[in-house]
Amino acid sequence: MITLNAQATETFARKWGKTLQPGAIVALHGELGAGKTTFAKGVISELTRTPPQQISSPTFTLMNLYESDFSVYHFDLYRLKSTDDFIHLGFLDFFDNNGICIIEWPEKISSFLPPNTFHVQLQHFDQGGRKIHV
Ligand code: ADP
Ligand code: MG
Repeated sequence: MITLNAQATETFARKWGKTLQPGAIVALHGELGAGKTTFAKGVISELTRTPPQQISSPTFTLMNLYESDFSVYHFDLYRLKSTDDFIHLGFLDFFDNNGICIIEWPEKISSFLPPNTFHVQLQHFDQGGRKIHV
């Protein structure tokens, strides 16, 4: 999928995210500015009815929780110092509690990602475009 602007990425993420079931884990791969947070916004907004402008990356808190019929955990692990920290913060428990986990910078904890993780790759493509592979 190629999207030409952030709105298109968000719309695509909404449609894709609609089908996610509780317990799902989504790993968003891509460099800084690739559109991971934009994609997460679409999915979280669709699943929890949170207005997209109220959704931002948990850059410093590492995790934001959104509650609806089920919990949605949005991780941004850019500033995670070690995999040990992930455990000590109790984050691993969220992988197994029937919520939905959406993870930016999943490479930081790749060894913890279960085999049924959905992997989404986002890449810059031409000017303003992004290539999204699910
Ligand atoms: P990341 O979380 O991967 O660092 P963000 O989603 O925070 O990326 O930022 C992506 C930036 O790129 C935003 O400023 C967004 O408006 C812009 N952008 C331009 N084109 C696109 C596109 N096709 N998809 C997603 N974002 C885009
Ligand atoms: Mg981000």
